[in-house]
Amino acid sequence: MKITVLAGGVGGARFLMGLVSELTRTHPDGEGGSTAEITAVVNTGDDLWLAGLRVCPDLDSIMYALAGANDTERGWGRAGETERVSAEMTAYGVGWPWFTLGDLDLGTHIARSHWLREGLTLTEATARLTERWSLGVRLLPATNDRAETHVTVADSEGPLGADPVAGATRSIHFEEWWVKHRAALPALAFTQLGIETAHATPEALAAIADADVVLIAPSNPVVSIGTILSIAGIREALAHTSAPIVGVSPIISGAAVRGMADACLRAIGVEVSAEAVARHYGPRTAGGLLDAWLLDETDAAAAAALSAAGIRTSAVPLWLTDERTSADLARAALDAASA
Ligand code: GDP
Ligand code: CA
Repeated sequence: MKITVLAGGVGGARFLMGLVSELTRTHPDGEGGSTAEITAVVNTGDDLWLAGLRVCPDLDSIMYALAGANDTERGWGRAGETERVSAEMTAYGVGWPWFTLGDLDLGTHIARSHWLREGLTLTEATARLTERWSLGVRLLPATNDRAETHVTVADSEGPLGADPVAGATRSIHFEEWWVKHRAALPALAFTQLGIETAHATPEALAAIADADVVLIAPSNPVVSIGTILSIAGIREALAHTSAPIVGVSPIISGAAVRGMADACLRAIGVEVSAEAVARHYGPRTAGGLLDAWLLDETDAAAAAALSAAGIRTSAVPLWLTDERTSADLARAALDAASA
């Protein structure tokens, strides 16, 4: 069985861990066996060049989590991390002081940047990085092209210390908005710089076309899943695949359970609810994305209306708290696909 998952960083990683755990249980042949094959098509909109290094936050979050090498306390980066190099970079005024890159993490970025400079694609560089770990999932960037998410915010500083010009805006990299400002500056718009010339990779398109099941992880609907969907080729591949497409809500009881997806949804005018996100993705029968949708039991009241709108909706526990709950959610998603 071939399972392809569209995923962002942390929500994507937690969901993929559950899927690996569930398939290891039901297909004990393991990685070598041909019984189950998981491919993640991962968001690259958060990627950036920093201090001469290519940083890919979502690919790395997933790689570290599946490798069991992530910092589970802090929620990002490597376990047992030190920050000696970052401190030196800050002393030289290089990089972003608020965007700390741990020493072990820097090893990843140096290796990736080296391979990219040698001419490898991001897909090839990612394959080399992941070779070292036993992930149980093939990681594919959605695109090899550079298309980075920028956030339009109000410009609070006028030219040369003058009062701000009414209505003036500026555009900052997504990571600056997310990490430095903790998504607290109201976002006026999200744009992908370079999206006009970005194309999905042949590997990502094949993973969607050849899948038996496509799952949309409970990832940020705007800047993770939305960004993947905006890459040329992805929506067409999803429309044409014979695989059922099942989405999992990243919103529980009207709140983004971890992270700041609520700020992103508000910026694009979508209500922060499991129902509104499902309607935003849309029923596949009407040109949208979804055949089926999982929302949390606390949101069960919306299931009937969504099902009537053409999205087969079931209510299950959606909190990804540990291996057991994550595996149960993966099972529910696979069951929804075969229903
Ligand atoms: P990021 O790239 O690191 O921001 O991670 P993603 O885009 O993959 O996912 C972030 C989103 O995952 C959050 O904004 C939440 O809405 C969602 N999320 C996080 N933890 C859980 C969970 O336990 N259950 C569900 N259903 N969603 C979650
Ligand atoms: Ca991300």
